[in-house]
Amino acid sequence: MERSLIVQKYGGTSVGSVERIQAVAQRVAHTVERGHRVVVVVSAMGDETDRLVDLGEQILQGSPTTPAQLREWDMLLSTGEQVSIALVALALQRLGCPALSMTAAQVGIVTTRDHSRARILHIHTDRLWQHLERGEVVVVAGFQGITSLAELEITTLGRGGSDTTAVALAVALGAELCEIYTDVPGIFTTDPRKVPEARLLPEITSDEMLELASLGAQVLHPRSVEIARNYGVKLRVRSSLEPLQAGSEGTLILSPPPRPRVADSSIELGLAVDTVELDRDQAKLVLVGVPDRPGIAAQLFQGIAAAGVNVDLILQSLQFTAAPAGGTESLPQPTNDIAFTVSRSQVAEAAAVARQIGQELKCAAVIVDEAVAKVSIAGVGMMGRPGIAAHMFQVLAEAGINLQMISMSEIRVSCVVAAERAGDAALALGESFQVIPHLHRAKMLTAPQDSHPVRGVALDLKQSRLGIRKVPDRPGTAAHLFGRLAAAGIIVDTIIQSQRGYHNGIPSTDIAFTVPQDQAMAAEAICRQVAEELQAAGVDADHDIAKVSIVGADMETYPGVAARLFTALAEAGINIEMIATSEIKVSCVVRRDRGIPALQAIHRAFRLDCP
Ligand code: ASP
Ligand code: MG
Repeated sequence: MERSLIVQKYGGTSVGSVERIQAVAQRVAHTVERGHRVVVVVSAMGDETDRLVDLGEQILQGSPTTPAQLREWDMLLSTGEQVSIALVALALQRLGCPALSMTAAQVGIVTTRDHSRARILHIHTDRLWQHLERGEVVVVAGFQGITSLAELEITTLGRGGSDTTAVALAVALGAELCEIYTDVPGIFTTDPRKVPEARLLPEITSDEMLELASLGAQVLHPRSVEIARNYGVKLRVRSSLEPLQAGSEGTLILSPPPRPRVADSSIELGLAVDTVELDRDQAKLVLVGVPDRPGIAAQLFQGIAAAGVNVDLILQSLQFTAAPAGGTESLPQPTNDIAFTVSRSQVAEAAAVARQIGQELKCAAVIVDEAVAKVSIAGVGMMGRPGIAAHMFQVLAEAGINLQMISMSEIRVSCVVAAERAGDAALALGESFQVIPHLHRAKMLTAPQDSHPVRGVALDLKQSRLGIRKVPDRPGTAAHLFGRLAAAGIIVDTIIQSQRGYHNGIPSTDIAFTVPQDQAMAAEAICRQVAEELQAAGVDADHDIAKVSIVGADMETYPGVAARLFTALAEAGINIEMIATSEIKVSCVVRRDRGIPALQAIHRAFRLDCP
């Protein structure tokens, strides 16, 4: 029988000392004894890469900037892995297990030329196979590559890049399994340091993993998950610190079957966007001027769920707290707008509930608009590339299409637009991203009652909220703003546009979004400029926020998930300042000091501690 091939990757902690390296060698030898071929990928020992960075910075008195400096930087950083591969190979040989180490140049791991952030294009497998065929274990240096077999310039993949090396090797070799050994037992329902009842997940989908990773629960390098997802690699995360025989199985990361690909496509590049989707089965409801206090969203969406209506997108706009700089107009009342979409077949039921609750809460207006549709772009290549969403807004602006609602996730952006322009929108996007648009198929609403609609909960304490008041409501404003932010490399999330109002007699909306805290200053400066250019009323920043999110790939097939989330927060007395959803995620912005209580309340409400 053909012996199956397993790629095992061991991180810095797992090879952090001589004893740990010996334990790794035993684990690898054990896998070989069980009849597998093994390729091992290792990181540098412990904090070695940090130490190398520090040395380089002492010489340069700062970070590398010129091409010549960047070249040497990769030369320097790639040495850490060269130490650990040799030590692991020696430890294996000592155990009587034939093994040898190889650098990226010796294997032929070919990358782009971008020093310190290179992407893997292609991996030569001939030499690897020669050794594997002889029954040897090959220990490959993670995190590094070369520009070409002829040129042999050394590159690195970006910090944490060894995971990416491992999964890319699994693709190139057609491995049966890729195991990532780390210092935690696997992926948990939430951060166990914040919620002691957090439970180890036996399985998670790669999409869920990508959403959670972006929320700070980063166990795997997202690029490695992206490759696993694109190529259908079976991926498992587990601990190298547990005993060899009795340890847990960790978490299996499930990916859809791979899509057929053109023969010469490179491992990491490919299209940023691989899906353009049009969903005509949408109707929009808006409650304008909803009181800003705990329990309102819960009350509304409990009512909606009780009527048997499944909600798609939900956005709740922020309530501005600061007066516009130099502005003369009076501040708006402390209220929110809540907008959501449902299937057109359920709009009557939803409207009845919305009108009744709108009346009870004395809302300014309840708007029902059946003439809307949703266009979306999706693709794992969008991760960490803020320019893609901005490009989408630009394409829609050029087609003269106004955006009514925007929903963002790591790998998907959706816009609600007027139904009459939706076809044009999908065509323009398809043409620009070079994919054929397709129609959205609704999922069946028959989820098994015994499984969880929510896989995990995450808390992000490293975000700030920015807002621009009274931006003219016409095509191109979102493209203008988010294009400028993207050009500055700012990663925007949770974009919310409020219902239109009027400013100086012109229809206008408030736009709010979150950005990573360390980019907030830069983002705020850009917002002030853009606000001036667009003659908006003012800019407002809030650094005291927390974002809690629930993630679940089957969420849309369970009615009432959002209601349950909002109810959990209401019962804990926590006010929701912003709500934004994407297909597999619902996020709420709350006061920062309520972040951890919110996380705990949500974990409990969804009974995530029970299998
Ligand atoms: N040694 C590299 C780093 O620390 C790569 C890795 O650990 O994955 O970033
Ligand atoms: Mg590391």
